[in-house]
Amino acid sequence: AIKGFVETLEEEIEESHKHYLDIIKRHTERLINIVQDLLTLSKLEDEKTTLELEDINLNALIEELLKLFKDKINEKGLSVKLDISRKCHLKGDPFKLEQMFINLIDNAIKYTEKGEIRLSAYKTPSNIVITVEDTGIGIPKEHIERIFERFYTVNKSHSRRLGGTGLGLSIVKHIVLLHNGNIEVESQVGKGTKFTITLPIDHSQQS
Ligand code: ADP
Repeated sequence: AIKGFVETLEEEIEESHKHYLDIIKRHTERLINIVQDLLTLSKLEDEKTTLELEDINLNALIEELLKLFKDKINEKGLSVKLDISRKCHLKGDPFKLEQMFINLIDNAIKYTEKGEIRLSAYKTPSNIVITVEDTGIGIPKEHIERIFERFYTVNKSHSRRLGGTGLGLSIVKHIVLLHNGNIEVESQVGKGTKFTITLPIDHSQQS
């Protein structure tokens, strides 16, 4: 409601006052992001959370998701490289895996000013190995261990300016763990960041 009325006011208000509305709008969007991320995280942390397992074709899922980011990617003049084997099928929760990719791709775009975002996936006998890589600002070594913590950000004001909440990667980690998977990160400041996620093809078959 707040966002809606701010948008209505935008059309009525004098030019000299628009600046204040912009501030209200930005903070409203931030509040919405925080509430949504906290709700997602608390649902994932609920012990009763179960996965709604389906057969997932990663290629189709990622191609569909990338449409959501088309404008942001074009605005920044970034390019996207996809290298996802058509054999990449797994049993997983489609909504949760979508959320995982959304957060990782959103970060890759947010923290990259030029270059490309690369997404790859291949199959091993029992796992699917996925990488999400960018040519962005990178993460200093001393922060790497902490980036999956809730509310942890390398640069608070930078993250806030970009609409970040510091919860995105905690959500990603939860989703990976719920699928009995593993996530690793390699990064070089000024060169880029690479997240590698290993998910079992059928985690219900695992001991
Ligand atoms: P945020 O909402 O701040 O992006 P996240 O939990 O998604 O929070 O990420 C935590 C922090 O990790 C970010 O604030 C940022 O400093 C760093 N980070 C995450 N992804 C990347 C990336 N692809 N490149 C550089 N830094 C990243």
